[in-house]
Amino acid sequence: MDDCIFCKIIKGEIPCHKVYEDDQVLAFLDISPVSKGHTLVIPKEHTDNLMTMSAEQINQVFQVAQKVAQKLDEALKPDGFNLGMNNKPAAGQVVFHAHVHVMPRSKDDGLELWHQHYNYQENEVEELVKKLINQA
Ligand code: 5GP
Ligand code: ZN
Repeated sequence: MDDCIFCKIIKGEIPCHKVYEDDQVLAFLDISPVSKGHTLVIPKEHTDNLMTMSAEQINQVFQVAQKVAQKLDEALKPDGFNLGMNNKPAAGQVVFHAHVHVMPRSKDDGLELWHQHYNYQENEVEELVKKLINQA
């Protein structure tokens, strides 16, 4: 993907602060972090989002997300972590190369990552789970 900013980072055309790299996966500090150590984990082969990732990419990226969390845990001793993945513009995806955010948290950081305000209508839950469970 010629116009993909993360592909350019992988090729070394745009600099980044790498924290982990192997043949399939790259992890680097987010340029606009929500907290110290906020890291992005990406597959080296371009794919748009969670839905288009191969099972292999999912395994590789999430294993590296765990490794990065363990490294950050040792280095920064945060109180916790959030993992985040924005998929498609409505969900806040801005860079369309699949990536997982690893975000160290501290007890008093005041970050609010989402608000829980959806109310199910009558029978909506039952219809939804029936649909989901019957899919392959
Ligand atoms: P999204 O909203 O697509 O999940 O997040 C994209 C993330 O990529 C944002 O957190 C943003 O700060 C980060 N980002 C965008 N451009 C660059 C860049 O050139 N370098 C780095 N290190 N991070 C970037
Ligand atoms: Zn890309």
